[in-house]
Amino acid sequence: MRRPLIAGNWKMHKTVGEAIELVAALKRELYDERKTEIVVCPPFTALGAVGEMLEGSVIRLGAQDCYWETEGAYTGAVSPRMLRDAGCAFVILGHSERRRSFGETNETVGRKIAAALAEGLTPIVCVGETLEKREQGVTDEIIRKQLDGCFAARDEGVLRACVIAYEPVWAIGTGRTATSAQAAAVHALIRMWARERHGQGAADALRVIYGGSVTADTIKGIMREDGIDGALVGGASLDAASFCRIVRYYT
Ligand code: PEP
Repeated sequence: MRRPLIAGNWKMHKTVGEAIELVAALKRELYDERKTEIVVCPPFTALGAVGEMLEGSVIRLGAQDCYWETEGAYTGAVSPRMLRDAGCAFVILGHSERRRSFGETNETVGRKIAAALAEGLTPIVCVGETLEKREQGVTDEIIRKQLDGCFAARDEGVLRACVIAYEPVWAIGTGRTATSAQAAAVHALIRMWARERHGQGAADALRVIYGGSVTADTIKGIMREDGIDGALVGGASLDAASFCRIVRYYT
């Protein structure tokens, strides 16, 4: 019922020329992919060029962040409308790297979600606990707090229009993937949270994807778990061969 989603977060990697090269390879390999929904999220500078290349393709374009205003005196910011104009359909919001290095909070993520939805973008909303919090045994509490903060509007339509990415901070870029069981437990918690808020229908419809050092070798085990609907992939999305293997995890 829920279509698997594999999204590549390129972070601050790839010049325009390198992005074009990578996307050309992905288009060649994945042109007939139907089972998995595929998203690539290049840096802002490459969105225009990649957006043009992806017109008519099964691969969809996403951005790594946005601001909540449409236009104005906000130096350095990029609005959802600009992302839409560049061809984006998705936007990653609340990534832990933005929370840690750029002062992102649940409140600002909530504002960005509303602005992105108003432009018809699908937010991929990231939540996840630090290693310290996991070791303190308060993972569930942290995840609930993040979800409550990001979705303070308590609007079922908003939640239905989003994808949630569970990304344990200790697993991002560290080579240390959560075990399938650890990931599945938090995914179940997120779905329970959605059910408590908006009922079974909303919980069943919600796509919850996993992120944290996913590779072509670990994706199969992750996707075998009930309730894991895909992956947000950082490092392994920078190489065409490994990203294609992740997209085609089911083969
Ligand atoms: C990410 O950037 O969201 C991510 C999960 O990165 P990595 O796959 O490199 O851990």
